[in-house]
Amino acid sequence: MTTAPHLITEIPGPRSRELHAQRTAAVASGFGITLPVFIARAGTSTLEDVDGNTLIDLASGIAVTSVGAANPRVRENVAAQLDLFTHTCFMVTEYEGFVRVAEWLNAHVPGDFEKRTALFSTGAEAVENAVKIARAHTGRPGVLVIDEAYHGRSLLTMAMTAKEHPYKTTFGPFPNDVVRGPNANPLRGEGPDAALSEIERIVIEHGADHFAALVVEPIQGEGGFIVPAEGFLSGLRRIADAHGIVLVIDEIQSGLGRTGRLFASEHEGVAGDITLTAKALGGGLPLSAVTGRAEIMDAAHTGGLGGTYAGNPLACAAALAVFEVLEDPELLPGVTRIEQSIRAHLEPLLAEFPVIAEVRGRGAMMALEFADPDTLAPRADLAQRVTAACHTAGVLTLTCGTHGNVIRLLPPLVIEPAVLDTGLEILSRSIRSIAAEEAAA
Ligand code: PMP
Repeated sequence: MTTAPHLITEIPGPRSRELHAQRTAAVASGFGITLPVFIARAGTSTLEDVDGNTLIDLASGIAVTSVGAANPRVRENVAAQLDLFTHTCFMVTEYEGFVRVAEWLNAHVPGDFEKRTALFSTGAEAVENAVKIARAHTGRPGVLVIDEAYHGRSLLTMAMTAKEHPYKTTFGPFPNDVVRGPNANPLRGEGPDAALSEIERIVIEHGADHFAALVVEPIQGEGGFIVPAEGFLSGLRRIADAHGIVLVIDEIQSGLGRTGRLFASEHEGVAGDITLTAKALGGGLPLSAVTGRAEIMDAAHTGGLGGTYAGNPLACAAALAVFEVLEDPELLPGVTRIEQSIRAHLEPLLAEFPVIAEVRGRGAMMALEFADPDTLAPRADLAQRVTAACHTAGVLTLTCGTHGNVIRLLPPLVIEPAVLDTGLEILSRSIRSIAAEEAAA
């Protein structure tokens, strides 16, 4: 393999630009694009485009291709299933893969209690179904969510998502009975106590019998890779217990090894009554899961859950290969080394450039926030310029955050250390040159 990044044209190259023009004529313009480059094939942690350029992948298709976008075990399992059948619909006739995926999740999702799992296709569908199940179990309507949360683009999950633009603008009205409580974001001086007592107040204000579910990301993804102040998650657990609310932990972005533990909630020693997975679960094929306490999961009446493609056989075959990779004893220590490497490259920049407010995250879910050093006013312009410089140099990075001022790093968990180092050197160089320009301005 050529060393990445390997650029033989500018980014995007001529063939990508040609295809992008065709896309513009054919595809609804509501889809945004981070980098208008068309991919021809992938390596473990690299993406080769249609112009023959090789990019370093620090995005994993937004935390999906954790085991790589061309993992041989995933390919083998999916190819074997493809030879047998592609679909039956699990509500019509059954197949074993669905059961094996459910068993693995029941065994590995946090919580020392009997569990059941329901499989779906997308993350938003998992969130919606968790709400359906929590309502069936409690007989209550309300859904409590957290500031800066992201839970999806369907109508209910848009209502649960905090950020207005681009997710919700012009798409309302939204389902009601969704209420938002405060976050505990350490950078903004938000400790857990004030947030938790406000959430407790919201619960009481709506009536102890109002909320079916409290839904929280253990580390917020789209909202800015915010690791909540210590004690926030366990405080939410206490509030949920005190009021009979189902605690739903949305591990769709943070789960399945991403943070150096199988689940991010393990860092806080908290188990949800229901835990949601998607993204990395299907190794690139669409698969999501709702896993929770047996008595809660079984509250939904027979026939009440499902979906034509829910737990598709090819996606289940892929998930079983993902589980094998996750069970490799070398994998999670490797994720911790990814965090060490990212910190070693980026933390020295904090002292050099006060406009970098924070380097944060866990494992291979790390971010860098740009903000005015005096006021903490977000500096999305810098995040955008650094991202553009990385893209031009052949390193695929993403931004996130309510204000778009956060660069997030989501490398495949199996990224080769040398490729990661090169990617981080290019990122550091881009930050240095843009932050230095900024300091001189
Ligand atoms: N929850 C979280 C925490 C997510 O990060 C996402 C996707 N970014 C979703 C839900 C929605 O998943 P999907 O896009 O598969 O519907």
